[in-house]
Amino acid sequence: MNHLSRVGIGYDVHRLAENRKLVLGGVEIPFDKGLLGHSDSDVLTHAVCDALLGAAALGDIGRHFPDTDETLEGVSSLDMLSHIVGLLAERGYSVINIDAVVIAERPKLSPHINAMRGRLAEVLGVDVELVSIKAKTNEGLDSVGRRRAIAAHAIALLAAH
Ligand code: MG
Repeated sequence: MNHLSRVGIGYDVHRLAENRKLVLGGVEIPFDKGLLGHSDSDVLTHAVCDALLGAAALGDIGRHFPDTDETLEGVSSLDMLSHIVGLLAERGYSVINIDAVVIAERPKLSPHINAMRGRLAEVLGVDVELVSIKAKTNEGLDSVGRRRAIAAHAIALLAAH
């Protein structure tokens, strides 16, 4: 396994709900709703976690962090990401780059993109230039477009040493 590169894909969606903080890419974003779920429901970080696990063929985030595990209630998704980075390092993988898309009708995410890139890059242990995040709306279509949910897609490229 000499200097192979391995690619992985991740996807996640969470419902928007009242009385929840909105956390995306480890950054708390001012908004009147947040994402519903077991952890902090950081849909972007979850998609990145699944892309990394996928690239290493290590299953998915639900296998590593089951939603039946009460110790994970409200846990920061950055802690999950950090754990996964450790699993990759143990197996000799390093991150080449990440690209991600967050799909949200509201709030406007562009002012927060660089902060999210910085947070994820810090946990991944890579230069911020290696972490790309893009924001899209769903043009009013579907549940995301009707502001009932936020979705994210991510792709990760790893080097295997
Ligand atoms: Mg999730």
